[in-house]
Amino acid sequence: MHNDIKHILFTEEQIQNRIGELGARIAQDYADKNPLVICVLKGAVLFMSDLVKRIEVPLEMDFMAISSYGVSTKSSGVVRILKDLETGVEGRHVLIVEDIVDTGLTLSYLRDSLLRRDAASVRIVTLFNKPSGRKIEITPDYSGFEVPDEFIVGYGLDYAEKYRNLPYVGVLKPEIYS
Ligand code: 5GP
Ligand code: MG
Ligand code: MG
Repeated sequence: MHNDIKHILFTEEQIQNRIGELGARIAQDYADKNPLVICVLKGAVLFMSDLVKRIEVPLEMDFMAISSYGVSTKSSGVVRILKDLETGVEGRHVLIVEDIVDTGLTLSYLRDSLLRRDAASVRIVTLFNKPSGRKIEITPDYSGFEVPDEFIVGYGLDYAEKYRNLPYVGVLKPEIYS
C-alpha cells in the first residue's frame, strides 16, 4: 500500500466486480440505442476504460474536461469547460461517466448543458457517490459504491494530480492535505 494512504476502502477486485455489474445493467438499458458515452476527464478515465469493456452493446465514446476544484479538496462551485466534446449530442442517448459525485455541482452543470444541446436523454453513471456532500439535488442513475464524507484517492481520483494510478481506492492521510 502507498505510504500516504491511511486505509483502503475498495480493492481492485471489488472495483472490477462492481463495474461488471454496472456494465451488464447499462448494456440491458442501452441495447439498440448506440449511446454516446462521455468520460469526464481526468478522474473518470480508469473507470471509463474498464466500464466500456463490460457494456457489451455498440456505443461511441467521447471525452470532456471540466473543472470545479483547482487543487483544494472542496468544490468551489465554479465550473469551467476545459475541453469540449467532439461529437454532436443532438438526438443522442448520452451516458455521462463520472468518478465521484460530491456536491453535485459539476454534474448538474454538465447534465443541463447537454440537455440544452438537445440530447435525447442524459443519464449519469458514477463509480462513487458521496450523498452527504450534496449542495444540489442530483441522483446518479447508476452508482457503484456509496462513500463516507472523507477525501478518497486512487483509481483515477487525485489529490493535486497524484495517486490516480493506484489500482485501489483509499483514504488519504489527513496530514497530506492539511
Ligand atoms: P462535485 O461537483 O460533485 O462536488 O465534485 C465532483 C468532482 O470533485 C469529482 O468528479 C472529483 O473530481 C472531485 N471530488 C469530489 N470528491 C472527491 C474525493 O473524495 N476525492 C477526490 N480525489 N476527488 C473528489
Ligand atoms: Mg470527476
Ligand atoms: Mg481532482
